[in-house]
Amino acid sequence: MKRGILMILSAPAGAGKDTVCEQLLKQVPDLRYSVSATTRPMRGYEIDGQSYFFLTREDFEAKINENGFLEHVEYANHLYGTPRVFVEEQLEKGISVILKIEVVGATQVKASGIDGVFVFLVPPNFSDLEARLRKRGSESESEIQERLRIARQELTNVTMYDYVVVNDDVEHAVEQMRSILMAEKRRRDKMLDLEIFKHREMN
Ligand code: 5GP
Repeated sequence: MKRGILMILSAPAGAGKDTVCEQLLKQVPDLRYSVSATTRPMRGYEIDGQSYFFLTREDFEAKINENGFLEHVEYANHLYGTPRVFVEEQLEKGISVILKIEVVGATQVKASGIDGVFVFLVPPNFSDLEARLRKRGSESESEIQERLRIARQELTNVTMYDYVVVNDDVEHAVEQMRSILMAEKRRRDKMLDLEIFKHREMN
């Protein structure tokens, strides 16, 4: 059984990664979303167990101690982490998984040696990013400022990613993500189990 592809998607807040990820999941049937755990308060439109697993700090820390996270970080005063078991089970079943995580966590995933394809999504420019962040209206001014500060810092980490996708248009960005997934699959399996290769000479 071929392992699924692990795709790691990061983007500065306001780059539109929720929409891009949602559309990608609709279009790629063998791709699953890894629901993260967090200690941040739930936003009005969110659903526990779908948007995130909303945990108390105490429960989150207990899970850290059980080695229950593939990666975890403190971001804007809240804890976020990727539950390990789900990801490993899916990949083993040959199902691909997408993690929508920030750059420090992505760096941890990379350092852990897990094979993954790292994608960084960016808005076309900084003023676009600020406008999207404000439009969302879910954070206070000081939280917006904090997220903008983090975004500026995050943009400096782009070099550790395999691909950069510019979100100038959602459909276009999704199409590029699909191409990356497809190319990655071809790169991994090289289809060496095809009949044609059984006749190659070994030398
Ligand atoms: P938000 O609070 O806006 O939902 O998420 C804040 C940031 O945390 C976003 O960049 C989001 O992608 C990231 N994030 C969400 N879940 C995780 C996770 O499990 N691990 C890491 N490292 N970052 C996460």
